[in-house]
Amino acid sequence: MKSEVLAVEGWRKVVHFTDESAGLNAIIAVHDATLGPGCGGCRIYPYASFEAGLEDVKNLSRGMTYKNAMGGIPFGGGKAVIFADPKTDKTPELLKAFGRAVDSLEGLYYTAEDSGVTEADLATIRSVTNYAAGMEKEGVGGNPSPFTARGVWRGMQAAAKRKFGVDSLKDLTVSILGVGAVGMDLARLIHEEGGKLVVADVNQAAVKEAVERFGAETATPEDAVAVDVDIFAPCALGGAINVDTLARLKAKIIAGAANNQLKTPDMDQALKDKGVLYCPDYVINGAGVISVGLEILGTWTTSEMNKRIDNIGAMLTDIFNRAEAENAPTGAIADKMALEIIARGRKAA
Ligand code: NAD
Repeated sequence: MKSEVLAVEGWRKVVHFTDESAGLNAIIAVHDATLGPGCGGCRIYPYASFEAGLEDVKNLSRGMTYKNAMGGIPFGGGKAVIFADPKTDKTPELLKAFGRAVDSLEGLYYTAEDSGVTEADLATIRSVTNYAAGMEKEGVGGNPSPFTARGVWRGMQAAAKRKFGVDSLKDLTVSILGVGAVGMDLARLIHEEGGKLVVADVNQAAVKEAVERFGAETATPEDAVAVDVDIFAPCALGGAINVDTLARLKAKIIAGAANNQLKTPDMDQALKDKGVLYCPDYVINGAGVISVGLEILGTWTTSEMNKRIDNIGAMLTDIFNRAEAENAPTGAIADKMALEIIARGRKAA
C-alpha cells in the first residue's frame, strides 16, 4: 500500500492511498477535527478523473464538519472516496485494503456507508479496522438510511408547519427525485401520513415500486423539480438546485436527503428571493451520521435515536426563526450556527 499526503489548504489531512494488487485507488479527507475525529461515509464511484474524486471528497468532508457539529455529535468532518465501479470492481480485497488505509490514520477518521457501500461491505472493512461503524448489532445502530429518511421526514414536517401552517404532510404533494435507500423510505413515511407523491429516478424498477406501493405519480428526472407540488425532495445526487432548475421550480419548500443540494452557494439567497423555504441539506439529512456517531460512542439506544431524529425538526425551526430575524437565507444561518458550535468546541479544548 502506498500513501501520499496531499497538500490541501484548509483541510486537516488529505491522503491518497493506492494498492495495485487489491485494485485500491482512494482518497481519505479529514476537513476539521476540532470536535473530534473526522467521521463520514465512504463513497465508491467511477469518477471520470482523479480531480473529480478529489473535488467530491473535499466538498463532502467539509459538509460533514458542519453536519456533525449541527448533529450534536463529538466528531469532525471526514469522508472517503474509492475510484471504482461498485457494480463491477468491488471485491473483499479492495474493501480490506481500504480498511487498512483507514486503520493507518490511527483514529483520525471513522468510516461508514455512502453511495456504493453496503452494510455487508462495512463488515468486511471492519474485519481489518476498528474505525468503521454503521453495522447493526443486536438491534443497535446499523444501516443509516432509514434514520436519515425519518430525519428528513421530521424536517419536512417542520418546514410544512412553517410555510403552510399545517401540522402534517396530509394533503400535501411531494416530488422526490431519487427513490433509492433514503428516498423510498421517505416516500413510505409521507404516504403513510396521507401525503401525495410524484417520484422520479433513472432506475425504472425503483419508480415502478413506488407507484405500486404508494400510488405515486411519476415524472422524468429532468422534470421532477418542475412539477406543480408543495415540496421538492432531492434524494439522488448533489447539485439539484442550480440556475436552470431554480427557474423551473414550483415547490415552496426544498427538503431532501441529498448532500450538497445547492450547485453554487448563491442558490441559497436565490431560493430566499423566490420565497422558497430551503431546509439546509446537512441539517435535514443528519440523522444517519448521528446514528453512526452514537454507535461509535457506544451510547446508541432507540429512545436516544428517536429523540435526536425529532430534534431535527426543532433545529430547523430555530434556523427558520433566526433566518427571519436576521433577514438571511437559511443555508447561511445553518453555516453560522455550525461555526459557532465549532468555535465553542475550540475554546473548550
Ligand atoms: P441510493 O444510491 O440508494 O439512492 C439514490 C437514488 O437516486 C437511486 O435510486 C438512483 O437510481 C437515483 N439516481 C441517481 N442518479 C439519478 C439521476 N440523475 N436522476 C434521478 N435519479 C437518480 O442513495 P441513498 O443512500 O438513498 O442516498 C441518497 C442521497 O442522500 C445521496 O446524495 C446521499 O449522499 C445522501 N445521503 C444519504 C444518507 C444515507 O443515510 N443513506 C445520509 C445523508 C445523505
